[in-house]
Amino acid sequence: IERPPESRQKLKTIESVLDPAPLVDTTMLDLTHWIAERYLCGWGQVLEGVVPAGVKKRAGTREVKFFSLAQDHAQRREEFTLPQKQQAVLDALQDATEPLRLEQLTRAASCSVSPISSLEAKGLLEVVLRRIDPVEATSGPVEREDDLELNPDQQQALATIVELLRARQHHTILLHGVTGSGKTEVYIQAIREVVGYGRQAIVLVPEISLTPQTIRRFRSRFDSVAVLHSHLGDAERHWYWQQISRGEVQVIVGARSAIFAPTPQLGLVVIDEEHETTFKQESVPRYHAREVARKRADLAGVPLVLGSATPTLESWQRADNGDDRLVSLPSRIGNRPMPPVSLVDSRNDRRFRSGQAIGRALEIATRQALDDRGQVILFLNLRGHSPAVWCRACGQGVRCRACDITLTWHRDRQAVVCHICDFQAEAPRTCPGCGRAGLRLVGVGTQRLEQEVRERFPEAGVLRMDSDSMSRHGSHDTALEKFRSGKANILLGTQMIAKGLDFPNVTLVGVVDADTMLHQPDLRASERTFQLIAQVAGRTGRSERGGRVLVQSACPDDPAIRFACHHDYAAFVEHELAHRRATNTPPFTALARVILRGPDEAVVAETARGMTDVLRAAAGESSEIRILGPAPAPIARVKNFYRFHLQLAAPGSQDIRELWLSVEKQLPRQAGVESVIDVDPLSLR
Ligand code: ADP
Ligand code: ZN
Repeated sequence: IERPPESRQKLKTIESVLDPAPLVDTTMLDLTHWIAERYLCGWGQVLEGVVPAGVKKRAGTREVKFFSLAQDHAQRREEFTLPQKQQAVLDALQDATEPLRLEQLTRAASCSVSPISSLEAKGLLEVVLRRIDPVEATSGPVEREDDLELNPDQQQALATIVELLRARQHHTILLHGVTGSGKTEVYIQAIREVVGYGRQAIVLVPEISLTPQTIRRFRSRFDSVAVLHSHLGDAERHWYWQQISRGEVQVIVGARSAIFAPTPQLGLVVIDEEHETTFKQESVPRYHAREVARKRADLAGVPLVLGSATPTLESWQRADNGDDRLVSLPSRIGNRPMPPVSLVDSRNDRRFRSGQAIGRALEIATRQALDDRGQVILFLNLRGHSPAVWCRACGQGVRCRACDITLTWHRDRQAVVCHICDFQAEAPRTCPGCGRAGLRLVGVGTQRLEQEVRERFPEAGVLRMDSDSMSRHGSHDTALEKFRSGKANILLGTQMIAKGLDFPNVTLVGVVDADTMLHQPDLRASERTFQLIAQVAGRTGRSERGGRVLVQSACPDDPAIRFACHHDYAAFVEHELAHRRATNTPPFTALARVILRGPDEAVVAETARGMTDVLRAAAGESSEIRILGPAPAPIARVKNFYRFHLQLAAPGSQDIRELWLSVEKQLPRQAGVESVIDVDPLSLR
C-alpha cells in the first residue's frame, strides 16, 4: 500500500469497513477509467452508472455472515488473555451445534457486537458468508436441446473464433452473415468451448424484450444463463451480480450494460446485431457498448465477436483495413435463397395521394399470401395514427407547446401527442395559428395502418406491435406467441418487429414506407435505411415455403433503397464509404458533439458562441481539427429548453480529446445553461 508523505496529509483512522469485498475489481477500475477518458466524463460518473443501484445498496441482501470457532482456536486462545465478554462468545459457539448468525450469537452470549469483532480480528473466529432465501430462477425450466451440426461456412467461422480462444488472444472478429445464415448457432458453439474452460461469456443483444427467441435458445443449451433485462428489481439484479461474480453463471445475456457483468473469468464477448443504435447510451456516461466491449476483451485477453447482416460502416472499415478479422456467412441455412424484393414506386399509385398506406400491389400480394395460408409482416416506422395535423388554410402543423416538433394524432387515446415529452391534448378544432377550421390529418402511422388493414382484410387476425401497444412487461412474448401459433396472420408494427424474429410461415414482408428514415437530418440516414430494409426483408423466406418482400417508396432510385432491395451489402458499403470519404464524415473522421440547453434562448446561444470561439482559438488555423457550428439543434426546443449544438471533427478521437482537455477549464459557463459532450455521437437531433 502506498502511503502519502506524512507531512502533506493527515490520515484519519478507518472507522468501519463498509463492504467485505470490493464491488468492482481492478480490471473494472481500469475499464471505467478508460471510459471516463475516452468519453470525456468523470470517473465517478462512470462508476455510478456501471454499478447497479441494487448492488450499491445491497438490495435484498441474501448473504449473511455465519460465525463458528476457528479450527485452531484452542491454541490461538493461549496467546491472549480474553475479557469476560469475549470468553462468553467463545463459550456460546462451543455450545452451538452449527454456525450462528450475528444476531443469534449476540443473543446467545448476551453481548454487543464489539466482543465479536475483537475475536474476529484476533483470528479466533471463522466467518463464512452464506446465502439464505435464494430467489427462484426467473424463468421456468426450458427443454434442453442439442447443438446443431454446423454447415461448412459456420464451421469455418467457429474455427476462427476457437483458434483465437485457444491462443488466449484478444482479437475482434466481424461475423458478417446474411439474415438466417446461422450466426446465433456459431455464437452458441463458441461459448460451448469457453464454458468448457470454466470461463464465462457475455452476449449483448439490442433489447431483451425483442429477442425472446434468442434467449430461449441460449437457455435450452446451457445450464446457467443469466438474462439481465430492464424489468429486474433491485434485489434480483443484486442477486444476479453476486451469482455472476462467484462464477456460477456460464452465459450472461443482456442489453448494453451487461458488458459490466462482474464475471471472474471472462472467456468471450459476443455482440449480436452490432449495428443497432441501442448499444450507445444516450446519457452520461455516453459510451458505446461495442467500444467498451473491445476494451474489456482486450484487458481480459479474449476475443470479441461482432455479428450482423448489416455491419456499421465503422466495423466494416476496421475489418476491411485488417484491424479486425472478417468472417462471412454468405448464404442462408440450407442454401435457401434470399427472398426476392419488388420495389413499388408509390408516386404511381393514386391511393397514396388520398392518404392510404397500402398500395394496389401490396394489397394483391397480401391477399395472395393469406389465401395460401401464409403469414404477413407489415413494417412501418411511425407510431400513432397520423404523424401530423395540418391546417389547410395556413399550411401550419400543430406543434407541441414545449418542444419544437409537430404533434401526432393517436386514435386510441383520442389525443394529439408529443413524441418527445409525451404531452397530450385534445385535438384542436381550429388551427391554433390562423383560427380557421379544416385541420387535416396527414401521413400514416401504425394505428392508421391497422385500421386500413382491418378494413381491407376483415377476415384476417391482425396484431399491432409498437411501443404504445406493447408497454407492459411480457406483452411482447404474448403477442409473438399469438403470431407463432397462427391466431394472428398479419403482424404490423414499428422497428420492434424488424429484427431477429424467426417465423417460418411468414411468406410476405411489406415495407409500407421505406422513406421514413431517409429524410432525417442525420449523416447515417442512408445507412439506417439500408439496415432497416435488409433486416425486415430478413424476416421472410426462412423455410422451404419461401417468401417475398414488397417495398413501397417514393424514392425508388435512392441507392440505399436500391441496394437493400438487391440484398447487396457490398455495393452499398462501397457507395456509402465513398460518400463519407468525400464529405469527411465517420468513419473517416472522429466526431464529438457538444449540446447546450437552457430556458433562455439568447443565453444558450451566447454560451454556445463563446465555447466555439475558445475551441476554435485553441484548435488554431493550421490544425486538422474543425469546429462546426454553433447552430440550433435539429430539434431546437425540448420541454421548454432551447438547444444548441456544435461539433468537433478531427482525424482521430485522440485529437478531439486533447483539444477538449486543454481548454475545458476555460470554456464559458453560464448559470442556467447545461452542456454535455457526446463523443462519437449517434444521435444528431
Ligand atoms: P441468424 O442469427 O444468422 O439470423 P439463426 O442462427 O437464427 O440465424 O439461424 C436461422 C435458423 O436456422 C434458425 O432456425 C436455426 O435454428 C437454424 N440453423 C442454424 N444453424 C443451423 C444448422 N447448422 N443446421 C440446421 N439449422 C440451423
Ligand atoms: Zn413536447
